[in-house]
Amino acid sequence: MYFDYAATTPVDPQVVEAMLPFWTDQFANASSPHSLGRLANTALEDARANVADFLGAQPKEIVFNSGATEGNNHALYGVANSLKGIGRHIIVSSVEHHSILEPAEFLQRQGYKVTFLPVDKCGTVDIKTLEAAITDQTILVAVMHASNEIGTIQPISDISKITRPRKIPLLVDACQTVGHIPVHVDDLDADILTFSAHKFYGPKGVGGMYIRPKTPVESYLRGGDQERGFRASTQNVSGIVGLSKAIDLCRQSMTDEARQQMAFRDQLFKEIPRLVEGVRVNGHQEDRLPNNAHFSFDRVEGESLLMVLDMKKIYASMGSACTSGAMEPSHVLRAIQLPDELAYGSLRLTLGRWTRQEHIDTLIRELPGMIKGLRI
Ligand code: PMP
Repeated sequence: MYFDYAATTPVDPQVVEAMLPFWTDQFANASSPHSLGRLANTALEDARANVADFLGAQPKEIVFNSGATEGNNHALYGVANSLKGIGRHIIVSSVEHHSILEPAEFLQRQGYKVTFLPVDKCGTVDIKTLEAAITDQTILVAVMHASNEIGTIQPISDISKITRPRKIPLLVDACQTVGHIPVHVDDLDADILTFSAHKFYGPKGVGGMYIRPKTPVESYLRGGDQERGFRASTQNVSGIVGLSKAIDLCRQSMTDEARQQMAFRDQLFKEIPRLVEGVRVNGHQEDRLPNNAHFSFDRVEGESLLMVLDMKKIYASMGSACTSGAMEPSHVLRAIQLPDELAYGSLRLTLGRWTRQEHIDTLIRELPGMIKGLRI
């Protein structure tokens, strides 16, 4: 029973099928001039047009890469380098993924000023606080579309109403939303938007970024003119074809899947607090991902709970996969000011395409006894 779709998703068998020919028969380098190369290039450009269409963008605005970590690093370093003569102040929300926080901290060590924007108890950025943090030195604002940890969706289109008139590029990490809820680059008014295929039933190690024309962002990898020079290196054609096929499947079924997952999620929200004492639901109540339920249990060690769940072949996590294993509560739980005794007993349940009613029922049946047994 897999409840860790936010960490990664299984590749849809239809995606695997679409990828196969690009490892064997149509294996050519998409930059090769012969007809086999042109076949690969056509597949690549079809995928680019498909992804662009899904996000409400133009094909030339999409850069394929290895995923959101790379996209986020590219965005931070690329904008900082490009605008270093204009200003050296960056604003990032304090609940961003580490692939934004760590490059920001690196830039801080290089002499940039970084504001880590606080959030409220639901994990939402406050627009007025953001507005007050902006200075004439601000060259980038980064706020994620939705939290990988507690599921809160940020008011991106309100944030861009602040950044757009001031001509400050807005970076939106949409890793948890693309393929799950509608993501439209003009509705959000993002300048750079990043995503990873493995979060929406595509393969790992491939993703992309949207870059609005005229956004001041330098190339990330140099040494070839692939991806319009933004990202040199032979493209991962099979991976990109898989990403595009995954988008096709999400385009067809995203609305129904979100409705179904929301019903499962709400059942967890209703039943778990009814059956277990000393539980808190984290994240925003309404503005949250349809597939994310995040709980904190008083006087329970989260890591022990994961182990007990694992023994029953129930796979979940405490928060982001990237911080589990560390004993400290995550930066996100700290940012929402969750008391330590609750933060240590956190459980993230994320749902997806193959979550079934019986999985939810089993979880609801098993969890109360497990919590009781683990209470200190
Ligand atoms: N941003 C967010 C919000 C994420 O959830 C993740 C994956 N945990 C990433 C960035 C990084 O994605 P990847 O590991 O595919 O590079």
